[in-house]
Amino acid sequence: MTTARNLTAPTTASYDVIIVGGGHAGTEAAAASARLGANTLLLTGNLDTIGQMSCNPAIGGLAKGHLVREIDALDGLMGRITDKTGLQFRMLNASKGPAVRGPRAQSDRKLYREAVQAELFSTPNLTIMQAEVTDIVPLGQPLEAANNPLEVHCHTGWVFRAGAVVLTTGTFLKGLLHIGNQQFSGGRAGEPAAQRLAERLHTLGFKIGRLKTGTPPRLDARTIDFSSLEVQHGDSPRPAFSFLPQAMPAEQLPCYITHTTPKTHDLIRENLHLSPVYGGQIEGVGPRYCPSVEDKVVRFASKESHQVFLEPEGFTSHEIYPNGISTSFPVQMQHAILQTIPGLERAQILRAGYAIEYDYVEPTELRHTLETKKIPNLFFAGQLNGTTGYEEAAAQGLMAGLNAALKVAGKPPFILTRAEAYIGVLIDDLVTKGTTEPYRMFTSRAEYRLLLRADNADLRLTPKGLALGCISKLRAANFLSKQAAVSELLRWAHTTKVKPSDALGAVVASIAGAMPTTLSVFEILKRPGLTLTHVKTHLHSITNYSSEIEEQLTTEAHYDGYLQRQQHEADRLTEGELLEIPTNLDYALVSGLSTESKQKLGAAQPPSLAAAGRISGVTPAALQALWLYLQKSKKLEATHPTT
Ligand code: FAD
Repeated sequence: MTTARNLTAPTTASYDVIIVGGGHAGTEAAAASARLGANTLLLTGNLDTIGQMSCNPAIGGLAKGHLVREIDALDGLMGRITDKTGLQFRMLNASKGPAVRGPRAQSDRKLYREAVQAELFSTPNLTIMQAEVTDIVPLGQPLEAANNPLEVHCHTGWVFRAGAVVLTTGTFLKGLLHIGNQQFSGGRAGEPAAQRLAERLHTLGFKIGRLKTGTPPRLDARTIDFSSLEVQHGDSPRPAFSFLPQAMPAEQLPCYITHTTPKTHDLIRENLHLSPVYGGQIEGVGPRYCPSVEDKVVRFASKESHQVFLEPEGFTSHEIYPNGISTSFPVQMQHAILQTIPGLERAQILRAGYAIEYDYVEPTELRHTLETKKIPNLFFAGQLNGTTGYEEAAAQGLMAGLNAALKVAGKPPFILTRAEAYIGVLIDDLVTKGTTEPYRMFTSRAEYRLLLRADNADLRLTPKGLALGCISKLRAANFLSKQAAVSELLRWAHTTKVKPSDALGAVVASIAGAMPTTLSVFEILKRPGLTLTHVKTHLHSITNYSSEIEEQLTTEAHYDGYLQRQQHEADRLTEGELLEIPTNLDYALVSGLSTESKQKLGAAQPPSLAAAGRISGVTPAALQALWLYLQKSKKLEATHPTT
């Protein structure tokens, strides 16, 4: 006889780390946690939409491209999958300096999703299941104890337990879609919103706000007249995202450019009351830098026209994404708008444009590891933290996944500073300053732009990934040989001397003025107008390297002075970052702090003096008082150690 089992009691399987959500944050988090060897479970609302791009199928661009290259340098998914599935690749700002160049690609939306799923389903240490997560229960007392596990409850009745949980629920928390005056509950078109989990975050006491974003109608390519439109081709050769070469699709597809017209703008102005944003139905704050077409017409009233990029959604799809006319007007109005735009007069809408409002958690609730301050071992990443964009979400997911796995393994956290990575800038901005509108990355947000180039992301970050253990063997081998080649070329350039009487010396004199003395090749390359081609023509001792490696030498030489200055400033920042502030420091004990500083520092709990300095309202005098207090505590600790 078999033993009786209670078939109604929930089963409680245990994992090291559970990731909730299979969007761009969740997939990077799951892959990163599993790469570190943590037994990881990914729970998501729908297995078929893992890796789904909710809006336009484009990755990268200015600053966002930097984030993708950094994700790739730490062996994340986004760069590799974009290279494998891209249908058009371009380098934005190609004619500008290397600090602000950004790779951008459009992917085939379906191929992208399928490639993410294929990669995740074959990742060791990773289990993937479909379920709506309805509750997170911190176990153990007190709530703030460091090693408390967490329980995750699903609508199916499943209950799972884990040492750490990463929530990446995107736009799904109390998501509300708007098309004109029609409103529907949903996480994005066609998928249900997460109501119960949203309620739970409220009852757990997190500070919650409301944001909105929007998307344009999708059009049938067969009903668009492309004949009179400007064509935009991809670059050749294609600028890849991944430092690890991928097999890229055989062809690139063209995009087309059209424009809104004065007729479009008149129509929108006359019917603004039909837009839920202007009719008062939408309260959430939208992305300032990605406005809807109605916002553009109102905010830039003097402009008679705005660009609309017609982007193919896939190699075999008829769908076109009209980038630039995101809207939540009623569908009848969406049709009328299209009729005023050249080439789109007879365009058929396949999916209506819409806006979505959703809950986000104020990111000052988080530590630099993306762990919540309130509940140890609970991490948040992605759009849930008030950001917008796949790249911002993926970067946070990667960091939260790594830190969750490290925490469970009892290892030190992995934090990137503002001087080390755009990822560091993103997370530091979020957790120290917070955000009241959808946050997106810009190069102007980074203080050390010349250090944080897209081209050197691997040289900056892959060594850190190797030390953590999150880099594949193949990438490690590739990287180490590149790193050795770059060092070899730089050493050669510093040690190879050129006399004024040499043939190259004469070339230097003719281009950049007489050489007063013997100079190294590196010094020569610093001179305006001198290129590696000049050097190669006259010096045959140079080994042949790939253009990627040569670029490192020319950039280092060309920007040497600026780079040294930024490195000096970055080193000073690092000194401040190294002055750690103990978690839960009682700021009431720090003499010389104003009440405002005490409150702000107490709420933000900055991990270092440098992070304290970035909190708005914390003055230099307050930092000085804090520094003095930390020095005194250190001395006291040295003379009376606690252990
Ligand atoms: P998502 O990609 O939203 O993924 C969330 C995941 O969590 C999904 O897999 C979902 O199934 C899962 N999930 C949610 N709740 C639960 C639960 N309770 N249990 C289990 N699983 C759950 N970005 C831009 O940069 N520019 C734009 O113009 C733009 N427009 C947008 C327009 C719309 C309509 C939408 C919806 C998004 C837009 N975005 C835009 C944002 C972009 O889609 C997001 O930044 C990005 O997808 C966020 O990634 P994420 O991983 O945080 O969340």
